[in-house]
Amino acid sequence: MKTLRFILGDQLNSNHSWFQEVNEDVVYCMIELHQEMNYVKHHIQKVVGFLLAMRAFNEALKVAGHQTIYKTLNDNKKENSLTELLAYIITEGNFEAFQYQEPDEYRLEKQLDDFSQQLSVETTMFSTEHFYTDRTDFGNFFKNKKTFLMESFYREMRKRFNILMKNGNPIGGEWNYDQDNRNKWTTKSPEIPKEKKFNNDASEIIKMLEKHDIKTFGSINKKEFNYPIDSKQAKVQLTYFCNNLLQYFGDYQDAMHTEASVLFHSKLSFALNTKQISAATVVEAVTEAFHKSDNITINQAEGFVRQVIGWREYMRGLYWLKMPEYKELNYFNHNKPLPKFFWDGKTKMNCLKHAINDSLNNAYAHHIQRLMVIGNYALLTERSPDVVDDWYLGVYIDAIEWVQLPNTRGMSQFADGGIIATKPYVSSGNYINKMSNYCNSCQYNLKTKTATDSCPFNSLYWNFLDENREKLSNNRRMKMMYHHLDKLSYDTSEKIKTRANHIINNPDDY
Ligand code: FAD
Ligand code: SF4
Repeated sequence: MKTLRFILGDQLNSNHSWFQEVNEDVVYCMIELHQEMNYVKHHIQKVVGFLLAMRAFNEALKVAGHQTIYKTLNDNKKENSLTELLAYIITEGNFEAFQYQEPDEYRLEKQLDDFSQQLSVETTMFSTEHFYTDRTDFGNFFKNKKTFLMESFYREMRKRFNILMKNGNPIGGEWNYDQDNRNKWTTKSPEIPKEKKFNNDASEIIKMLEKHDIKTFGSINKKEFNYPIDSKQAKVQLTYFCNNLLQYFGDYQDAMHTEASVLFHSKLSFALNTKQISAATVVEAVTEAFHKSDNITINQAEGFVRQVIGWREYMRGLYWLKMPEYKELNYFNHNKPLPKFFWDGKTKMNCLKHAINDSLNNAYAHHIQRLMVIGNYALLTERSPDVVDDWYLGVYIDAIEWVQLPNTRGMSQFADGGIIATKPYVSSGNYINKMSNYCNSCQYNLKTKTATDSCPFNSLYWNFLDENREKLSNNRRMKMMYHHLDKLSYDTSEKIKTRANHIINNPDDY
């Protein structure tokens, strides 16, 4: 049967069984869509990254002998939806069957599912063959359990896939080395090797985006796009990480520094989420490096593996279990718009200035910058989870809804009321100071809460606890914080609230 196989921009898995043999009845199809560029405003590097990777994937398929249809933005109109274009291609090409892979976003799955039901040709959906688990494993694992504890899911994954295990026990004797992984990086700490560069040329794509008036934000170097755009580059990035960065990954995974934004993080998320490389390939390379090298201790390897087989698979499972309701959750009923500085990086708070400018310059910030600086600020200042989601979905090169939404709305904004996190990830300036050097060169005073130059995070933090006493004070893990709050004098509490409210309502003045 003459078959059209459609590939989305985040389904660039060259090891998929689809591509193992060339079939003259099969044509692969990829489309650069206005709809995908406009559903939120994206960072220029995110748009460029997807298009460069899609084009490279199409070329690789052609070289391997497959037939392809590739539509660029120049080949379709702004108003054409994905399904209109697919319907046209199917009719024009007299295709007798339509096949696609499981979309990872609810929005696209619904669109393709509705479309398939109306089609008169035979339609089949395939697995993407990328993740360790399938969508239903998560629900099955947590069936009849009261909470969705990541730690128990993660231990099950280690056992099920026999990763960093010996005779049924975790290598090293512990499941978790988080307490060893909280070092602050200073310029006296191990030197950070230079970032891996690929110097991919994005000029042609940028010209096309300008021609079509695609609205983006953030900056890019046209000739030096440095994220991997194909499986070969993804493997180079992975090898580079294993040889140069993994030995300090765990130690400094929560650290932040004004002079070093990426530190020892892998920057593999874009390659992983577009499926240029599989989760298993990454985990196998890291565990192999651990077994081969005396320099890589268990806390480094376990710290990394936990992120990929733990958090990543967990977030995906939860997304599919809880969508579409999850996207509407707003536990604290927060509704404030984003400050202007989220778009231009102009704020006097040094931690936010660095975390936001890193994001605007590189379409990247590491986990703690996203969680404990930007997310912490958004939650403490009562920003609407909708606008927070849109910003995160737009700014980060690795942001695809299945992973962005549970991380942002759930883990960082606690808008799900505690499905993911057992307590909100909020802190005063102390945590930021503990993990970074940001406060050393900040104009605000970390030590005070109410003075006109006090660190804004301090008054915001105590104000948040006070405002949400009813919802949070019975949380066992928050008892100590409420104990401290209750020790503040009435006068101090009032001053904290006045300052916090001023910051919340005038964010761009700080
Ligand atoms: P490393 O620190 O080197 O970690 C290795 C890999 O582990 C990552 O590439 C990623 O695939 C995986 N990983 C680590 N943490 C998580 C996590 N919490 N959830 C899922 N996977 C994880 N990650 C995304 O891929 N897309 C997002 O849109 C995204 N949004 C986030 C929003 C917030 C508010 C927070 C707190 C985290 C978010 N994360 C997201 C998770 C994490 O920040 C990024 O995966 C990581 O920073 C990517 O950089 P890296 O490849 O250098 O990661
Ligand atoms: Fe951020 Fe406060 Fe530290 Fe300044 S003093 S960098 S605002 S935590």
